[in-house]
Amino acid sequence: MSEDCIFCQIVAGEIPSHTVYEDEDVFAFLDVNPLAPGHTLVIPKGHHERLNDLPDDVADSLYETLHDLIPAVEDAVDAPASNVGFNNGDASGQEVPHVHGHVIPRFEGDGGNPIHAVGGSAPDLDDDELAAIAEDIEADQ
Ligand code: 5GP
Ligand code: ZN
Repeated sequence: MSEDCIFCQIVAGEIPSHTVYEDEDVFAFLDVNPLAPGHTLVIPKGHHERLNDLPDDVADSLYETLHDLIPAVEDAVDAPASNVGFNNGDASGQEVPHVHGHVIPRFEGDGGNPIHAVGGSAPDLDDDELAAIAEDIEADQ
C-alpha cells in the first residue's frame, strides 16, 4: 500500500466507495465523478503506477475481472455498449497514479466520442515508417 494513494485507501476501506467487485488481487468500484451512469473503475489491490508495472499474474486477474464486469456494468444501466480504457502514465492524462481501467457505459446519441478522440494531432507516417515502428515493437518483447 502507498500511504498517500487515494485508491490504496479505498482498497483498505479508509475511504468509502460503491464497491461492485472484490477478490484477492482485484477491486472494482463506481467512479465518484461518473462520465455515464455505471462508470466503473477496476484496479489491482496492490499499488502499481502503470499497466507496464504489473506482474503477469496480476495483469491476468485484472483482465479477467474486466472481462466479467463489462457485461454486468452494461446490463445494470441498460447500456448497449461501453468504452473500456486505461490512462497509462502522466502524459496520457492519468491523474491517479494507481493502475485503473475505466468501464464507461455508452448510449446511442449520448454525445460522447470513440476512443480515437484521445489522441493529439495525428502523425502522417508512410509505410516504411510504420514498418520500422512495428519492427521495434516486435523486437522489444
Ligand atoms: P484518471 O484520469 O487517473 O484515469 O482517472 C481517475 C478517476 O478516478 C477519475 O475518473 C475520478 O473521477 C476518479 N476518482 C478520483 N478520486 C476518486 C475517489 O476518491 N473515489 C472514486 N470512487 N473515484 C475517484
Ligand atoms: Zn495505490
